[in-house]
Amino acid sequence: MSKILIIEDEESIAELEKDYLELSGFEVHIENSGDAGLQEALNHEYDLFILDLMLPGVDGFEICRKIREVKNAPILMVSAKRDDIDKIRGLGLGADDYITKPFSPSELVARVKAHLARYERLIGSAMPKNDIIEIRGIKIDKTARRVWVNGEERQFTTKEFDLLTFLAEHPNHVYTKEELFREIWDMESIGEIATVTVHIKKIREKIEFDTAKPQYIETIWGVGYRFKV
Ligand code: CA
Repeated sequence: MSKILIIEDEESIAELEKDYLELSGFEVHIENSGDAGLQEALNHEYDLFILDLMLPGVDGFEICRKIREVKNAPILMVSAKRDDIDKIRGLGLGADDYITKPFSPSELVARVKAHLARYERLIGSAMPKNDIIEIRGIKIDKTARRVWVNGEERQFTTKEFDLLTFLAEHPNHVYTKEELFREIWDMESIGEIATVTVHIKKIREKIEFDTAKPQYIETIWGVGYRFKV
């Protein structure tokens, strides 16, 4: 859920903006003064800022400049005077958009959505996403080689990680120990397949609630193992 900070001294306007944004599924926090707003903006993570220009204490121009020094998230400036928009542009403060009061709340919501979408595209293209597998409470980040079970991180050795990831990437497919050995250890299977059993046991101890009744990696007697979805 995207988080939005509204810095606005007119409480009725701030509440109206908040109501509409919350109805659209955003999480919204309001600060009514310039100083508190600036501190909140600098010390917490937000996806977008809605910033009134005329504020007690630090004004919107200064807040915009300070936020832009350290944050890339979109800044939407709100002003009661049309003239101010030229001033904001002229100052090159790094605001992404300007809206004059009075405005319709749905107009504000539309602009917020457009800026967030644009920003997410920008971030998405700049930072490649990690390759993640998620199956019933197990999250495997292949890029970072990290595993979480019900939100709690667990430590795996290289081979345990490779084996778990391989099985999770091919759910419902039964593999023999020989196949798994060849896949993970990359050698011809000659009497070493007991190592697969040992690794499966170790993995189960880390991911299963009850290793006697595995919910994830099932033993298919006489055949091998499969990751159950
Ligand atoms: Ca104001």
